[in-house]
Order: sequence, then structure tokens, then C-alpha cells
Amino acid sequence: MNPTTVVRVAVNAPLRKAFDYLPPRTGPAPSAGARIRVPFGRAHKIGLIIEVGAISELPQSRLRHAERVLDPQPVIDDTLLRLLVWSAEYYAHPVGEVCAAALPGLLRKGRSPDAAEVAYRATTDGLAIDLDGMARRAPRQAELLAILKQGPALVSDPRLQALQAGWRDAFRRLAERGLAESWSQAVTPVSPPSLVAHPGPVLMDDQRVAVDAIVAALPGYQAILLHGATGSGKTEVYLSAIESVVAAGRQALVLVPEIGLTPQLVQRFGSRFDFPLAVLHSGMTDTERLTAWRDARSGRAPVVIGTRSAVFAPLQHCGLVIVDEEHDPSLKQQEGFRYSARDLAVVRARLSSVPVVLGSATPSLETLQNARSGRYLSLPLPERPGAARHPELKVIDLRRVPNRDGVSPPLLAAMERHLQADGQVMLFLNRRGYAPVLFCTECGWIAGCARCDARMTLHQGSARLRCHHCGSESQPPASCPDCDSELKPVGQGTERIEETLKGFFPQQRIARIDRDATRSRGSLDDILADMRAGRTRILVGTQMLTKGHDFPGVTLVGVLNADQGLFGTDFRSDERLAQTILQVAGRAGRADRPGEVMIQTAYPEHALLQDLISGGYDAFADAALGERKAAGWPPFSHLALIRAEAHQAGQAMSFLQSCQEWAESLAAPAIRILGPAPAPMERRSGRYRAQLLLQSTNRGPLHQLLRELLAKIDKSRTARSVRWSLDVDPVELF
Ligand code: ADP
Ligand code: ZN
Ligand code: ZN
Repeated sequence: MNPTTVVRVAVNAPLRKAFDYLPPRTGPAPSAGARIRVPFGRAHKIGLIIEVGAISELPQSRLRHAERVLDPQPVIDDTLLRLLVWSAEYYAHPVGEVCAAALPGLLRKGRSPDAAEVAYRATTDGLAIDLDGMARRAPRQAELLAILKQGPALVSDPRLQALQAGWRDAFRRLAERGLAESWSQAVTPVSPPSLVAHPGPVLMDDQRVAVDAIVAALPGYQAILLHGATGSGKTEVYLSAIESVVAAGRQALVLVPEIGLTPQLVQRFGSRFDFPLAVLHSGMTDTERLTAWRDARSGRAPVVIGTRSAVFAPLQHCGLVIVDEEHDPSLKQQEGFRYSARDLAVVRARLSSVPVVLGSATPSLETLQNARSGRYLSLPLPERPGAARHPELKVIDLRRVPNRDGVSPPLLAAMERHLQADGQVMLFLNRRGYAPVLFCTECGWIAGCARCDARMTLHQGSARLRCHHCGSESQPPASCPDCDSELKPVGQGTERIEETLKGFFPQQRIARIDRDATRSRGSLDDILADMRAGRTRILVGTQMLTKGHDFPGVTLVGVLNADQGLFGTDFRSDERLAQTILQVAGRAGRADRPGEVMIQTAYPEHALLQDLISGGYDAFADAALGERKAAGWPPFSHLALIRAEAHQAGQAMSFLQSCQEWAESLAAPAIRILGPAPAPMERRSGRYRAQLLLQSTNRGPLHQLLRELLAKIDKSRTARSVRWSLDVDPVELF
């Protein structure tokens, strides 16, 4: 018997394989990258064709026919399809879920990928008819016709949606009576009249060198580290390089961390260029997302700018990939399909034969090592444009000064001085809420979370206790539940610091940014605008302060508690702390005034702080890379982490114990198996958590082991009693 050739389809299902189908009996011919409707179990699904003409291992009798090919032309081009298949393989994740991540929701539901949409309009007869008379006999038709008389309406028109599902019936009746008709409205074709709306500043020498190197790499793959301090002009380099790429008729893909995609950044791109941008982020409606996706795919938008998942945006003709703030952990997806958008950006650039620029003031040690070993080209931007100078770091020794309210006297004195000189002040504290502990001074009772091994944070403004790990909330008890004594908030969060500062500086306008203060839409923009305009003099905030905001008037930055990060359990805590300190520090002295940075710590002699002060990020990175090498951590090894959690204590551990034994039996000697061990915070959201770490100096054997191990896990019964996941190249160990 002849082997059966089939269509191989990625179906959005949590199964680590693609599915084979016989070609549909009618309709367009299948092609790789097109969507296809298939029977799946008792249901029907829309999947993505990843291969045509594959040889199935199943006998013909067990294969079903696909129902219909949805796209006569592929919606995902060959390069992007290769990226998706590669990612599924590399992250050992179900290919159907990977492909689903690349398609906007409306396409997964069957909407057309083309920018032409069916629209509806009234005919001449329809325009002439008396609506009042019609309203009595056929109110729905009259209602729809009234809308169409105002002008044509698209299927996605909210006015049509407001008529609810019945409008299609009403339209059919109107069409039968010759009063309305549908037609296909195509979007205007592309022809950007000119590229640059407002030319940028004349580039400095280092910027020029960087732009030339990027442009010279095209066409061809080259990974480039653009290493420049905050404010050194990296964005100007991106803009200039993009200008060249677009002038050559190609597109640029720009990835930024979630929190870095600010309206200011989009505005900066938008005001430079005279063509449409496609912006992709998580807060969009399905229709907005589809429109941006279409603009990217058709080439109508020569620049696509977005967060993590935009790495899968379709491009008509890719010419350049940029990852801004490439060290930012939010570029790694932390649930489901756990991919690194930074790493996939590099893979995508390689598959597309184009350069990729990784920009940061504080590059990840992985990227830095790639640059040092010569795999990546390193382009430094040492100087700040104009007269702006790098801020100086100083340490305040909290053992020598009183620090009752979270702000030490030397820092208060410096604030006074800077405010007097008309400077603005920014204070960073990575802890939101009022106080991290609510404590009974008599018996030692502490408000804890019922579902986590964690304390509840007191939020004074909303009078709530909140768990920052699971989101549980409760009312703070008026007195100790055990002994009825008075309860005392201990420690400082941003809310309390704000209150303290209002006491110290009653005349100054003070604002706060953290997740609580910026919950309502637009409030973050308002706070930032007030700060930029100089109306706000003191800004207190969490991590949200560190990203990409340009405050020219800030001359003093205070890091209130560096010690939270000095002794972390994760081997990356040091790197995160150094990055955070320098990113916050980078907010100071951007304009022509020198900035001052003060770090409060009880460990002023800690090597990390000393390195940062004496030699900046490079000195820190030298030391940190040395330690990583000695300990065999990434970038000198590769990691895969299996996490498990279960409601019953011990279940996650025993599942991982089995995994450990299987791994032991399968593993090549080059692989170290560490654990299993309970997570540092074992119970979270009512589940007990544990993890097993696999480490190898070579990727090959590690991935081989993962494949075999997953096959065992997928078949095992114990796996069904726990929630488990695999994280390849984890950025957080917990
Ligand atoms: P980064 O992205 O590294 O933080 P930016 O590109 O945003 O740096 O530049 C910081 C500031 O300096 C911006 O206000 C920018 O307009 C300005 N700038 C950048 N390059 C130049 C230049 N060559 N000449 C004058 N100003 C510049
Ligand atoms: Zn008590
Ligand atoms: Zn909790």
C-alpha cells in the first residue's frame, strides 16, 4: 500500500504534537501557513497548516478529512512558520498553542486576514423609503436601514453590534427587498509620501558608528549589543537605523518591555516618521489587534512596535529587529508558553537574515557574555548628548544614622538642598502598600495570608490587608485577634513613605506611582505629565519608576532600601538589583544639571554596591560573570526548570521525585539534576509548590533529555494529580 500523504495541522490544544488529516475534498488547496478547519474529537477547530505532503504514521483508515482550507494564500509566511515550529521544539511546548500565540483572536475564530472587510449600505431605493412607515411593520429593518442611511457600516461597526445578533436577519430581509446591499471595502493601498516628518538631531560620533554598523549588516544576520547608559541616545540610534531600513523598502520590528511601551515612546516614533505605525500590546481589543496585525502583514505599517508577543507579528519584508531594554524580565513570558521574546527575536533575525539590535544600559549577563565572546557585535554609546553627565552614586550607611521613617537624615538634607535649587526628587522603594507587616506588640501575632506562606501587606488608603502573592484581601482587625492588644504597622511601603514625606515637606507637591496609585485608566499618564512639567516636586514609586521615563528636571534619586535585593535566593538577584539601581539612577540628571544618586543600605561594604560605585555596570558584570562561571550558572550553562504544585502537601514533591528518577535513568553524564526541592515560599494560593532543576553545559543533551522525559511525564498518572510546567531558560527560579 502506498504511504498516505497528509496535511499536518497545529491545533490549539494542550497536546505536544501536530495532527494529520487527509486534504479537504473541495475548496482551496492546502498550503503551509494557511488556516484550515478540521474535525477534532467531536468538535471542529481552526488550526494552522504546518506541513503539506507529510507522510503519516497512521493508516489511512484512521485519518479524517480536513473540512475546508480557509486561506487560499498562507497567512503566516515561511520564515514566521519556521520560527513557530522552532519555538515549539525548543521550548518543548504544544505547537498548536505556539501557533495560537501568533494569530490574533479573530483570525483564530475564522475572520479574514485581508484588510478588505465586508461593508453594508443602503441602495437608492433604500435611501428613498419612508422609515416611519417601515418602523411600524418591521422595526428591526427600519432601525438597521436608519444606520445604513448615515453611511456604510462595517461588520465590526459598534452600531451594528448594538442591534445584537438579529441585524444579519434584518439585513437579509432588506437585501431581498432591494433596499440594502453588501460590498467589499478595501483599505487604501500603501504609498508613504515621505518617510521622515521631523528629522532627528545630528548624531554624535558613537551614534553614527552604531547606525552605520547596523545598516551595513543588512542584508544578513548579525546580533548587535547596543550598550549605552540611560539617556546616551539609544533611541535616536534605533530611529536613524529604522529610517534607513524603511527607505530601503523594508520593515522594522521593535520590541519593548510591557512597562516600556509608554504613550511617549509611541509618540516619539510617531512624530519622527510620516507613515503609520502598527502598535501591538496586551491591552488592545480584538479588532484593534487584528487591524495592527494586518497593517504589519501588508506592509502598510513600515514599523511594528510592540510588547513580547509582537515577536510573532507578520511582516511583509523584515529588515531589522530591535529589542529595547533587552535585560527586562518581562520579555520572558512567565506562564503557558514560556518563551523569551528577546531570544526569539534573535532567532527570527537569523531566519530572516537581518540584523537584530539588543539595546540596554544594563545588558543581561547572557547578552554581555555573547558580546564578550564575539558572537554578538558590541556597540558602546559612552557619552550623553549635550552637557548631560552621568550621575554619581553615593551610599548612606543605615547603621550609622537613624532611619525611623524610611528616609534617613542625610537623604532628607540632600532632598532639601535639591528642592531649594529647583531640582526634582525621585525616591525608589520596591514595596507598595503602607506597611509590609501588621504586628502585635504584646504577643507577636502577625497578619498572615491564609492561602500563602506570606504576610499580608497593610494598605492604609483603602483600609485593607492584601496578599501580594495571591491577591487575597481582608479587613484589618481593630486589635490583635489573639490577645486584643494594639496592632502596629511595621516597615515601610510607598504609601507610608508618601505620608512621611508630606510631614517633612508640607509645601511641596508629592506624588506616588505604583500599581495601587495608578489603577484607574489615565492616572499614570497624569502623574507622569505633572512630573515632567515640574508641577510635582517629589515622586515616590516602585519598579514603575525605572522604565523609560524621561524627567529632565530630576537631579536627585534616592534608593530607599537596596538591601531587599542583596541577599536574594535566586542566582540572578544580584543582577536584578544592579540593573534596578542603575535604571533608577539613570533618571537623574538627564538635562544639563548633574544628578546625584543616594542608596540607603545597612551593607555599604557589599561587593555589589562597591563594584557599582567604583566601576559602574561593567565592573559589576565582570565580577558577576566570574562568579557565574565558577558556580556553573548561566550564561555558562543552560537550565530547564520543572515546576509543580498541588493542593495536597507532598504531592508536588512526590511527582517531581518521579521526574527526578526518570531523568536519572535517562540522563547523559553531562546533565546535573538538582532537587526536587520545595519552593522558597512553599504554599501559594492554597497550593504547595516544588521544583526540579536540570542543568547542562550543552544544550543538545539537555533538550534530548527533555524530549524523553516529557514523553514519560505525558504518559504518567501522577502527572495528572498535579499542575506542572516546564520552563526552558527560566529567568526566575522559585
Ligand atoms: P536612550 O534611549 O539611550 O535613553 P535617547 O535616545 O532617548 O536615549 O536620548 C536621550 C535624550 O538625548 C533625548 O532627549 C534625545 O532627544 C537626546 N539626544 C539623543 N541623541 C542626540 C543627539 N545626537 N543630539 C542631541 N540630542 C540627542
Ligand atoms: Zn497579640
Ligand atoms: Zn496569599
